[in-house]
Amino acid sequence: MKDILDLTKKELADTLGSYGEKPYRAKQIFTWLHQRRVTSFDQMTDISKTLRSKLAEEYVIGACRADKVQISKLDGTRKYLYRLEDGSFIEGVFMRYRDWNTACISSQVGCAMGCRFCASTINGCERDLSAGEMAEQIYAMEDDTGEAVSNVVIMGSGEPLLNYANLMRFIDIISDGDGKGISKRNITVSTCGIVPAIYKLADEGGDEEHMQINLALSLHAPTDEKRRKLMPIAEKYTLSELTEAMKHYYDRTHRRLTFEYALVSGENDTAQDAEELAKLLRNMGPAGSSALVNLIPVNPVKESGMGRPTREACEAFKNKLENFGINGSIRRELGSDIDGACGQLRMKSHA
Ligand code: SAH
Repeated sequence: MKDILDLTKKELADTLGSYGEKPYRAKQIFTWLHQRRVTSFDQMTDISKTLRSKLAEEYVIGACRADKVQISKLDGTRKYLYRLEDGSFIEGVFMRYRDWNTACISSQVGCAMGCRFCASTINGCERDLSAGEMAEQIYAMEDDTGEAVSNVVIMGSGEPLLNYANLMRFIDIISDGDGKGISKRNITVSTCGIVPAIYKLADEGGDEEHMQINLALSLHAPTDEKRRKLMPIAEKYTLSELTEAMKHYYDRTHRRLTFEYALVSGENDTAQDAEELAKLLRNMGPAGSSALVNLIPVNPVKESGMGRPTREACEAFKNKLENFGINGSIRRELGSDIDGACGQLRMKSHA
């Protein structure tokens, strides 16, 4: 059986069209599914019995069940362990900020990228998530907390740009005004740097309607040599190819670029690293301002053996960047006591 939550409103309209139904039915059904969040077709009271049973013959309404919820004692961040239809597990994180709630969701079961500091990749990638499975992670958080999610970061396990078609479908579904209507401007996709996919993303929507989502690049090193030590993907794409691609994304969309940089003691945290990083990121934004660098003191992952620099060393790195005109911010960590921080998500319960 197929999950009806995987369909965009347009795909739903095409399906209904093939049944001989009127197009406006798609909007009604989409709202039942993504806004009112019914769990069975019979709850769609303004849809005929015949159509309801026809849909029920072909589709299920998926649900990503939260098997376990861990709540951080430090900041109230919630980490969810979801069990999917096929028995696989993924994790997602709900973060409460002063004026909004952010959902960090996974895009694959596991990850194939092999970054040395990250727990999500330890057992490789099992499979891509469907668009519905990405949305359902958010729905389950809303059901559990009774609060609305307004911002989404696709920074859980997986490389979203290697699950491109489903990622696009997910963004379409979650931003649809007849569903959750989360603004594309509040959605951030984080990538380890799949160059051709960055170009593809930049060119979505043709000349009229460019992409509104934010793009974050996991950089983590200022030179190819250092990056290759931390991230196998750096063997495939060089920093100059990557910065060109990011520039293209900026030129097309004018969305501010973010660069993520996990500070690892003794690997990428010297004053020289900061200087080289600043040089690399010059001219990556509008004149007079720059791209933003998110500095993340590396989070402990048992298997990686990588340590974080001291708080002072992180501050010094940030100041050095700023001396060269690059804005850095040391990311506030949320959920580190429940292994819910960046790079700590896994595909199994391990507590
Ligand atoms: N595959 C995507 C999205 C998932 S990772 C990507 O690479 O961007 C989300 C962010 O957490 C990435 O920037 C990743 O490099 C970072 N990260 C991974 N492990 C980390 C760790 N142990 N400490 C800090 N950040 C980490």
